[in-house]
Amino acid sequence: MAYKITLVRGDGTGPELTEVTAKVIEATGVKIDWEVMEAGVDIMEKEGTPLPDKTLQSIAKNKIALKGPITTPIGTGFRSVNVAIRKELDLFTCLRPCKSYVGVKSRFSDIDLVVVRENTEDLYAGVEFPERTDEANKIIELSKGKIRPESSISIKSFSEFGCERIVRFAFDYAVKNNRKKVTAVAKANIMKCTDGMFYRVAREVAKDYEGKIEYEERLIDNMCMQLVQKPELYDVIVLPNLYGDILSDLCAGLVGGLGVAPGANLGKDCAVFEAVHGSAPKYKGLNKVNPMALILSGKMMLDYLGEFDAAKRLDKAVAEVVAEKKFVTYDLGGTAGTKEMGQAIIDRIKNS
Ligand code: NAD
Repeated sequence: MAYKITLVRGDGTGPELTEVTAKVIEATGVKIDWEVMEAGVDIMEKEGTPLPDKTLQSIAKNKIALKGPITTPIGTGFRSVNVAIRKELDLFTCLRPCKSYVGVKSRFSDIDLVVVRENTEDLYAGVEFPERTDEANKIIELSKGKIRPESSISIKSFSEFGCERIVRFAFDYAVKNNRKKVTAVAKANIMKCTDGMFYRVAREVAKDYEGKIEYEERLIDNMCMQLVQKPELYDVIVLPNLYGDILSDLCAGLVGGLGVAPGANLGKDCAVFEAVHGSAPKYKGLNKVNPMALILSGKMMLDYLGEFDAAKRLDKAVAEVVAEKKFVTYDLGGTAGTKEMGQAIIDRIKNS
């Protein structure tokens, strides 16, 4: 029976990337019945919202989606569709593997890291108070002089529940994927309440995996330096939302940049697979951008479905096309378009 999967086309370069990626996934032989849905700036003009209810309902019903990137218009009052999807469906894990591929230009080789980022709490919860509002003034009063008058305020909050489930996810992932170590990253020397709690909970969770998975802690600033000096020391890295957002771009940089970095947003029983990069609107409709990141997100989706052989064949095909450098996009030093690179990967899969 075919898997029923929501395909959110997105906007900017999203529609061309999702079209090619769907074809590549189908070439593995895994049967998929795509439910094609819209979200983003194009549909906003038609429906007055960048995230129509039916799109969200389709993902909630099918419990799995492949999603193209979506623009967050600045200054329109609409919150990010990407953040809204993660929040509405409680997709609390953002999983971003960063692996080197021969042929992708980078200052580093042999990188094989996994970033596990908490996706729903922290400063991204959107609890903010502009300067000179009653709420901001009340908090300023409570701060007893620590916050200057007329400050604007964004609240950082972690729950024990949120810390526990993300750290447990990282350890379970490490066990299932034969990884050796989990590194918890925060800034607990300064933020003793929130980041302090993150470490405290992580240490408790780590006890359940003693003897199986090694556990260590790093401060976020030190971790940034360590990763560019000796990335080989790290394996699975678990972080709260904001640090995770920043560090996952750093790790994408270690393996060649945004064009090659895949990702997944995972909840208890729902998953949305998407590239780390955004909608790259300046390349919209030009058949120019690299489909590799979304195709590798598709590989993660096949693994999630338990279609391990198809996932392996897809990964091998991508690796071969990238290493050969004949049909690759501009960012990988080639002249191929999105479609031509996708077709080269399809041809490899079919001949495997
Ligand atoms: P971006 O990732 O869209 O693009 C930045 C630059 O990176 C591009 O100009 C291009 O040079 C390069 N790039 C990105 N993807 C590429 C690809 N597949 N192949 C080759 N080169 C690629 O970042 P941005 O310009 O900061 O963001 C554009 C919009 O996307 C914004 O509205 C932002 O909010 C949104 N965004 C969406 C998501 C998402 O949907 N999950 C993620 C990040 C940003």
